[in-house]
Amino acid sequence: MRCNHCTDAPCVDICPTTALYKRDDGIVDFDTDRCIGCKSCMQACPYDALYIDPGEHTAQKCNYCVHRVEVGIEPACVVVCPEQAIIAGDLDDPTTHIAKIVANEQVFVRSPEQGTNPNLFYKGVEQANLDPLSAATVVNDYIWRDPPDPVPAWMTVDLTPKNGSGPQAPPGFEYGRNGAPPRVVYNTDHPMPWGWRVSSYFLTKGIAAGLALAVAIALLAGAGTGPALINWVAPLIAGLFLAGTGALLVTDLKRPDRFLYLLTKGRWGSWLVRGAVILSAYAAVLGLWFLAGVAGADDLVAVLIWIAVPIALAAAGYTAFLFGQAEARDLWQSPILLWHMVAGAFAVGGGAGLVLDLFLDVPNAATTAFIWAMIGGSAALGLIAFAELTTRHPTRNITDAMHHMTRGVYAREW
Ligand code: SF4
Ligand code: SF4
Repeated sequence: MRCNHCTDAPCVDICPTTALYKRDDGIVDFDTDRCIGCKSCMQACPYDALYIDPGEHTAQKCNYCVHRVEVGIEPACVVVCPEQAIIAGDLDDPTTHIAKIVANEQVFVRSPEQGTNPNLFYKGVEQANLDPLSAATVVNDYIWRDPPDPVPAWMTVDLTPKNGSGPQAPPGFEYGRNGAPPRVVYNTDHPMPWGWRVSSYFLTKGIAAGLALAVAIALLAGAGTGPALINWVAPLIAGLFLAGTGALLVTDLKRPDRFLYLLTKGRWGSWLVRGAVILSAYAAVLGLWFLAGVAGADDLVAVLIWIAVPIALAAAGYTAFLFGQAEARDLWQSPILLWHMVAGAFAVGGGAGLVLDLFLDVPNAATTAFIWAMIGGSAALGLIAFAELTTRHPTRNITDAMHHMTRGVYAREW
């Protein structure tokens, strides 16, 4: 898909290393040498304009042929088109052909509701060409736009609109409702940007953060410092799960050799960078807690546990803000995602404490605290899931995605 060189480009906001950046002339350009291959930009671009270059293992996209534009030549696609179907130019200069068209004729943009203010305008276009939900959906072909098995990637996908509910149409919706004519398109074939490693990272990060939170509840319940679990086993286990979290994140990068760019070339506006700083700070506090516990400095252990609590909450919840920057994923924009992640951390942290309880001599107050952390976190998760399932969703993309998850093609996994 063509890059829209959005005025408010979410790919630039989420990019942790400024590999994607906006030039003074408005072009969203790309620096291959800074890209770590985290694929966050692919989750942020609502237009699927980014892909992973199989040679460089970095993201790539159209950069408006800046190498040509800078020497006064139009982009290659403009020059090669025999019918002048593509018109390029300076939108800020009212005398240019394109500025006059945009000012005086009816033009449309894709997904205006995403708030990206795209600078790619379509003239004389049918809505079915701009809005994928105007055409029929295909089984197994919704979220990632991969061709359904067994249709090979090189074949076309039939998006023939249907007058009436299609096989995956959620209640109350009809595909092809605009009566658009049938059309067959080439679909974009690329694997899911984030897969099992990111899913697993939620669990390992939740345990790492939740264990400190559960131990803090144990202190509140009167457990006191001193027992091995509280003094050094908990920070050790939390640290191991935190290390696992880091390993999952690093190995998920397409350029793991550049993972330190997150800290050395990081852009603070990206929640990927903020998350890396939070996880690093949490690792440092866990390390100090462990050392103080091994040394038997009980008072210092208590202080470090309370220092760890806000950082553990941040570690558990920051991903909600990262997902909030992933503008292309409407389902991830839920305002209760933060509480979902914090509740999950309490649930798995309490559970981890109970598992350790099986092998260690733990005060009764701590056992009770772990049970309540797990029950409270699980109950909160249940309430959040109930709210997500029963409340009205702000966009049709979310409604469709929820339907596909709970009653559609992904119901089995759900
Ligand atoms: S969000 Fe997508 S379309 Fe917009 S500038 Fe970024 S890559 Fe281009
Ligand atoms: S893959 Fe990550 S580092 Fe590379 S451009 Fe996209 S967001 Fe930036």
